[in-house]
Amino acid sequence: MGTNWGSATLRAAIFFLAIFALSLGSYDLALAAPPRTPPGIAPTSVEPIGKDLYSYRWGPYRTMFAVTGEGVIVADPLSDEAARALDSEIDKLTAAPVKYVVYSHSHWDHAAGARVFKDQGATIVAQDLCAKNISETPHPDVLPPDVTFADDFQIKLGDQEWDLHYFGPSHSDCLIVIQPKPANILYLVDVLNPPFGYSMPWNALLPDDHIYNFVPFFDAVDALAKRDGVTQITGGHLSVIRGPDGKPAAAPALGPASAIADKRRFWDELLTAVGDEWAKGTYSEVIPDQLDLDRFADTHGYNRDEMWLLVRRLGSYYAGGR
Ligand SMILES: [Zn+2]
Repeated sequence: MGTNWGSATLRAAIFFLAIFALSLGSYDLALAAPPRTPPGIAPTSVEPIGKDLYSYRWGPYRTMFAVTGEGVIVADPLSDEAARALDSEIDKLTAAPVKYVVYSHSHWDHAAGARVFKDQGATIVAQDLCAKNISETPHPDVLPPDVTFADDFQIKLGDQEWDLHYFGPSHSDCLIVIQPKPANILYLVDVLNPPFGYSMPWNALLPDDHIYNFVPFFDAVDALAKRDGVTQITGGHLSVIRGPDGKPAAAPALGPASAIADKRRFWDELLTAVGDEWAKGTYSEVIPDQLDLDRFADTHGYNRDEMWLLVRRLGSYYAGGR
């Protein structure tokens, strides 16, 4: 079991949430339930990650926010319930309103919930394609952005500056990397989750992922980190580690920026292995049984069944280009 245990526990918790939702027969009721986390991990937390910058955790999700005398900048609102809870936490730190909400990407499980901030007058910012995605697949709690941009955007409020960078399709086609300053960290959602770099993706089926740009994407993020001397990153999810007592514990919100190059190496090595098999003329549906999957057993969160699915998915990429 080893390092798998934490993520297996987290998966079990999320599975339980899904069953809970089914048993109630109501999506809304499930969302209104308090967030569930593995035993021993608090349901929510606020953690300082830089000057006037905080990571907010709602169950297995993370977002971040910056507090200035002129107002607050919030990244992903996560959900209606999470955003209301976050708004209460912000009220403990400042009377200033939320001025900006920045979507990391358009997926409902991160972008929902901005209404409570919009009602305070917040401007919602996202990459251009997020607006298109949200209009094509709307959700009642996902508000469309007020301001969109193509490649780069800068938000300045008080002594905070958030630089927003788009490096092409990756996880969804509109995911951006947020660089809050002066903290000078990177906020990366769903493409990796610190402290783990050489790690299994959250979902081996890679829904709405653009595999062809994975390696160039991580190259671009790594170049940005090196250019600006970024040494730490934060993510959009809880990572579970073993605490000093051997029990599951929440990993700190910040992890080393070296995880960027490690994740790039993971995709490069796995894609090369699958691509080599494809080049031999092996049909994509046969590749997972042909490849020695245990070559990748040192991947964080490795599980042979999940790796089988991932390799099956990557085989389809070699067959279809997507
Ligand atoms: Zn996502």
